[in-house]
Parts: sequence; C-alpha cells; structure tokens
Amino acid sequence: MTNTPSPTADRLTNQFSESVTQLKPLLVIIGNGMATGRLLDEIIKRTPNKYQITVIGKEHFGSYNRIMLSAVLAGDATIDSIMQKPPAWYKEHSINFLSGSLVTYIDKKTKVVELASSAQINYDELIIATGSRTAEIPAKNQDVEGIFNFRDIADTQKIQAFAKQEGSSSKQAIVIGGGLLGLEAAYGLAISGVEVTLVHRNKWLLNRQLDKVSGNMLQSIMAQKKIKFALGHEVASFENTIESNAERKVKSLSGVTLTNGEFISAQMAVIATGITPNKKLAEIANIDFNRAILVNDYMQTSDASISALGECCEHNRATFGLVDPIWGQCITLAERLCNNVKKPFQNAPVPTKLKVSGVQLFSAGDVEVSEGSQCFTLLDKKALIYRKIIVKNGKISGIVLFGDVSSGMAYFELMRQQITVNTMMPELLIGDEFVTTIENEQKVSAA
Ligand SMILES: Cc1cc2nc3c(=O)[nH]c(=O)nc-3n(C[C@H](O)[C@H](O)[C@H](O)COP(=O)(O)OP(=O)(O)OC[C@H]3O[C@@H](n4cnc5c(N)ncnc54)[C@H](O)[C@@H]3O)c2cc1C
Repeated sequence: MTNTPSPTADRLTNQFSESVTQLKPLLVIIGNGMATGRLLDEIIKRTPNKYQITVIGKEHFGSYNRIMLSAVLAGDATIDSIMQKPPAWYKEHSINFLSGSLVTYIDKKTKVVELASSAQINYDELIIATGSRTAEIPAKNQDVEGIFNFRDIADTQKIQAFAKQEGSSSKQAIVIGGGLLGLEAAYGLAISGVEVTLVHRNKWLLNRQLDKVSGNMLQSIMAQKKIKFALGHEVASFENTIESNAERKVKSLSGVTLTNGEFISAQMAVIATGITPNKKLAEIANIDFNRAILVNDYMQTSDASISALGECCEHNRATFGLVDPIWGQCITLAERLCNNVKKPFQNAPVPTKLKVSGVQLFSAGDVEVSEGSQCFTLLDKKALIYRKIIVKNGKISGIVLFGDVSSGMAYFELMRQQITVNTMMPELLIGDEFVTTIENEQKVSAA
C-alpha cells in the first residue's frame, strides 16, 4: 500500500476531511454509471486501500445495470432487481458517495471540483465518467409535455407512468429512432398495451447493423408485435393541444408531423435517435476534446491528473455506446492507478444483439460489400433465416445473421482472429446444423 501524502489535502477544506485519512491520495470520480461501477470493482480487487475514493453522481441511486432498463420497460425486470451497488455498498468499502449531486466545474490548477450546491471537493486523481445523453433532434416545438428520453431510471419511470395511466381510452406513442434503443423502447411500450409507431429516417431498421434484407425481416417480426412503422422520414414538428388547469396552461402532445407532411396522433413521444457524449466539464476546464473527451491509450486526458472513461471519452477517433469496450477501459485505468502498470486499451469490434423477445439477430463489422470484397448470402424467406458473410482479402470483414444466430460467435472469432476463410466458403456459411433444415427456396450465392 502506498501512503503518499496528498499534496492538496490541506489546501482546501474537503467536506469529508474529518473522516478522510489524509495520508491517502484523493481519487474523485464524476458520474456513477456503469463505467464507474466496474472501475470501482477493478480498483477494490487490486488495491482496496490505496486511495480515499469519492464518487459523485447526478442520479439518486447507487450504480445500476442501465442495460436492463429495456427489460424494466418490457416488464421483465424491476428497478430494484437491476441495482448493482446500493448506498450501503459504498459505506462498506469506505467510499464517500454523493448521490443526486451534479458536478459543474473542474479547476485544474487547484485540483478541485465544484458541485451545483457550491460544495468543493479536492482531488489528486480525477476521473470523468459522465456518460452520454440522448442526441437532440431538429424537430420544432419541443417544449411540449409528453416528450421523453430513454436513458436513465427517471426517464423509464416517466414512460412507464404514461403507459399505465388510467382514464384515457387510447394510448398512442411515437418512438423516434430505429436503432437498438428505439426498437427496445418500442417493444417495451407495445407489450404494455400502448399503440406504438416507430419513426426512423432510414428506409430500414437498424441500418448500421443490418442490410435491407435483414432490416425488412426485422420489421416484419416487430410488426407482429403490433408496432407500426413510418420509415424514410423524420419528425418535422411536435403538435400539441393546450389544456388549462388551476395553476397554468399546459401544452400537451397531440402528435407529430413528419417531413413528408403526414400527421401521426400520439400523447407521448420517446426520442431514441442516438447519443451525445457528456463532455461539457472538459470543455470548460480546457481539457482537449473532439466529439468526446480525448484520452490516450491509458485513459489519460490532456491533463495528467485527469482520466476519462466510458461513453464520455474518445480514443483514436472512436467513441463508445456499448459496455464491452468500456470494461477494457476500466481494466486499463485500474492497472495504471493501482499498480502503475501501463496496459494499453485496445478497441475491438463488438457484435450487436437486440434485447427483444423472439428476435434473433447478430451483426459485426461490415454490413455492405465494398470494393474488393466478396459477399456470401443464404436466405430462407419462409423461415425468416438469413446469413451473410463478407470476405475481404480472404478474411471475414462482416457478419449479418438473422433468425438463426447460433453460429454468430464462431464466425465472430474467425473475424476477430483474422483467420483466412476463403477456402472454407461457401460451406462455412451453411453450417452443419443448418443443412438439416435447408429448404428448396434457399439459395447460396457468391457474388
Ligand atoms: C435503455 C438502454 C439499453 C442499453 N442496452 C445496452 C446493451 O444491450 N448492451 C450494451 O453494451 N450497452 C447498452 N446500453 C449502453 C450502456 O448502458 C452504456 O454504454 C453504459 O451505461 C455507459 O456507461 P458510462 O458509465 O459511460 O455512462 P452512464 O452509465 O450513462 O453513466 C454516466 C453517469 O454520469 C452521470 N453524470 C453525467 N454528468 C454528470 C455530472 N456533471 N455530475 C455528476 N454526474 C454526472 C449520469 O447521470 C450517469 O448516471 C444501453 C443503454 C440504455 C440507456
């Protein structure tokens, strides 16, 4: 254990100073999301006593499994069941935990962070893990009641409260965005009995992960779950009615007008068009940023005492929206902070999966053929099974599977390890287990 005297400990009054062992360096983490939850585990596993840790989180909860908010919305999980670190956990590990606290400013010179409450906290090492927020859309008239994001527990509770509202005979919702989040939100609402229309600006769903054939297959399965679609258009404006109650006039959502002029009636809209990294603290502290907060291979920002990780950071021009690479970042950062070991973070492709009951899809790497690549496809229209493998320079560069994803991880390993597969094609595409169910109309084509 290192007992480095804190250079800042006596410069400013830390509100925890009475309980803090002043000899330990002060490690302060801004944001208490999934990245912080995992980082704390990695730190405690390595050196539980090296730092006096303070975690400052805007939300009123300990760290929880944000991924499972989709399951909460679909009624398959409860808020309680997705909690990973209740407040007692922080106490047990002698971590100062400030929930419901927003950090508004970082002073790099004095090594202090300031909260919205004006409280100031000293640090020796600072970690920014502020995640992302819902991306904004350019539609008009957004100051209407009934428009929600789908990012955290508070959003999920508001959406659920609408879905469970009594008294209104028809409940209609618009979900904006046909990516993973939008589809999971649409499914969660539809299963609660809400009439859902999903608006997506591309011509097919999950257009970053699926091609047109598999995107259309997904649409037909989602349509069986009573979701309607308005594809190829955007929301131009939100429409409202004005209702007066005792205190004020309320603008309530009545629907949306699309860019093609079509009106869709709805009392609620969920915006799920993508994410924007929360980098504002870095901007005002003069820490280098681009789309997100820039970090080197060791998760260090342009200030040597400040690190960043998770969805708020940018590494080698990549930003992050899935937890798999973030776990690697946590290990890299914990190794540096705890053991002074420089283990570079390496970003690797991650397969896409959708958490909607009855939908099997798997996608990784390229979706469309590019110059010099070969595309092998297999389609069973009746069984709604589709396989596509893109091969470039003899190696797999893209996988799209729909309906039967059992070989997904095997293909993914071949892609990840860059194994030469051209002599295995097209047999590799068919796969042993699939041959037994093959039907006449299936076609194996190599283009
Ligand atoms: C509904 C949903 C489903 C998802 N499903 C999947 C999935 O299936 N697979 C997958 O890999 N990923 C999924 N994700 C993405 C995954 O949840 C994120 O990649 C992950 O949570 C990112 O972790 P993070 O710690 O960087 O950010 P977050 O978990 O968002 O945590 C950031 C925290 O910082 C807080 N914060 C922000 N600014 C401040 C401030 N100034 N002061 C104090 N606190 C602040 C925020 O309130 C938040 O609590 C899903 C996300 C959502 C919303």
